[in-house]
Order: sequence, then C-alpha cells, then structure tokens
Amino acid sequence: ATPISVMVAVGRAAESGILIRKGEALQRAGEITCLVLDKTGTITEGKPTVASVYAIGDFTENQVLQLAASIESGSEHPLAASVLKAATEKNISLDKVTQFEAILGHGVTALINKQAVFLGNKALMDSKKISYSRYNAKLEQLSALGQTPMLLAVDNKIAGIVAVSDPIKKDSVQAVQHLRERGIRVIMVTGDNPITAQAVANLAGITEVRAQVLPQDKAEIIKTLQAQEIVGMVGDGINDAPALVQADVGFAIGTGTDVAIESADVVILQGSLLKVSEAIDLSKATVKNIK
Ligand code: ADP
Ligand code: MG
Repeated sequence: ATPISVMVAVGRAAESGILIRKGEALQRAGEITCLVLDKTGTITEGKPTVASVYAIGDFTENQVLQLAASIESGSEHPLAASVLKAATEKNISLDKVTQFEAILGHGVTALINKQAVFLGNKALMDSKKISYSRYNAKLEQLSALGQTPMLLAVDNKIAGIVAVSDPIKKDSVQAVQHLRERGIRVIMVTGDNPITAQAVANLAGITEVRAQVLPQDKAEIIKTLQAQEIVGMVGDGINDAPALVQADVGFAIGTGTDVAIESADVVILQGSLLKVSEAIDLSKATVKNIK
C-alpha cells in the first residue's frame, strides 16, 4: 500500500503546481545526482523572435524574410513560428512552396518559384555542399549573443541570415543555483550550435553543455550518464520524449507538448525550473518521514 506520507506529499506538490504522475518518482527525485536540461523552452522562454535579418548578394532583407517565412510555413518548429511572425508584422506575403521537407535537427528545404531554397544551420548547408565560410565571423558573432542564426540558401548560394533570439526565463539562474547547492550536476543539452549553446549556458550559470545533439541522441546521452549517475531530465518538446522516458525521473515543463507530458513522471505546471529543486526537496523530506 502507498504510505500515507507519500499521498500527503503528492497532494502538497500538486498545490504547488508539481503534478506527480508516478508515485515512485516522488521517492526517486531525491536521489537525483545529475539533471539534464533541454535548452529551448526549459532554460529559455521558448518563444523565439527574429532579432535581425541580413541580406546577401542581390537579395533584399524583405526577400530574405519572405523566402524564410514561406519555407517555414510548413514547419512546426518553434524557430518557424518566429520567422512567420516577423513576416506577418511586415505584411510580407508568402510564396507558394512545393516539395517541402523538414530535416530533423538541421532545417527545412523546398522549391519556391522553381528555386531550391534551404533554411537551417551549418550542418544543413554542409549536407547540401553550400559554402558559407565567408559568413563564419557573422555567424559566430550572432551565436556569441546567444542567438540562433539560420542560413538561407537559394539555388545553392547563401542569400541571407535570419537570427533568432530566445531569452532565458527570469528564474533559470536561481534554479540552476538551487540545484548546485544540492550537489547536483547540471548539464544542458540542445540541438543548437555549440557557440549559441555556450552563450545561453553562461547566462544561466551552467558549465556543462552538450550541443548539436540530434533529437534521437538525447536519450542516448541520458543512458550513458546512467552508468554513474541517477539522472533527471527536464524537457518540453516532442524531441525530448524518449529522453524523458529514459531518465530515472522525467520532468515535463507544463507549457510543453502533450507527448512530453505523457512521457514524464512529473509535470511542472507553471514552467518554472525552480519547481524541480522544490520537488527534489519534497522527495527527500518524504523519504525521511517513511524511514
Ligand atoms: P532543439 O534542441 O532546440 O529542439 P532541434 O534539434 O530542433 O533543436 O534543431 C537544431 C537546430 O537545427 C536548430 O537550432 C536550427 O539551427 C536547425 N533547425 C531545426 N529545425 C529548423 C527549422 N524548421 N528551421 C530552421 N532551422 C531549423
Ligand atoms: Mg525544448
């Protein structure tokens, strides 16, 4: 039978916006030695906005935004929403898109006005054999600000850069500090590039970063860590679901997707990372009561 103190704790947690979906999670949370945090939507607000648009060659900024928004109209990625919003705000109409393809962790490709259009990261351009080395300094400069630069290519040439910014949540710094004080190793994982990832980690006070992680590899990272650690994972995206399942305790941040919530042991309702250390403390206090 469930000890009464566990039931009480589950109720107390719920009042504080922490939904414990599995009873064992309450006992397990206090044993976490390592917490893996997704970047976008977990450490950051997860509501990216376009910070700047650069036109290259014969293209204008509006053309760059038009092509970027047109191609992103078929994508459900948070980055896509930011580009579409920027185009709408400038009353830019969208072009007809055919042969749209989303490439996981890399970007999107399509045909627009008989031109091959690609939008995504360096890895996407590498796979399409498009040279962008002339823009490396610009890309690094934007990334160092914590922004995510997306390269736009039209007919195999770089036509522009769209940089997106996604600020960290106001309590992320304090949340990381709380975890540290409890002796927990904190690791940020992200599909984003290493420079952007490091810049965001610095802002949040995180020293360990795994960048350019493909969605399918997040769970693999957790598995490797589990050889030495009791691993908690906090995420919000569809991409995070396998890692949430793999972790000893999976936390879905409440603004997250249904898939993430269904894969988690604990759901944090208000989206604040502070609730994770609160759940850990509650777990420790409860286990102490049982013993
Ligand atoms: P995250 O960890 O933020 O969920 P993803 O694995 O979804 O990262 O994406 C990794 C990177 O791939 C993004 O930072 C971006 O550079 C690129 N990318 C992915 N999807 C898109 C898209 N729809 N448009 C542009 N770039 C994309
Ligand atoms: Mg995310």
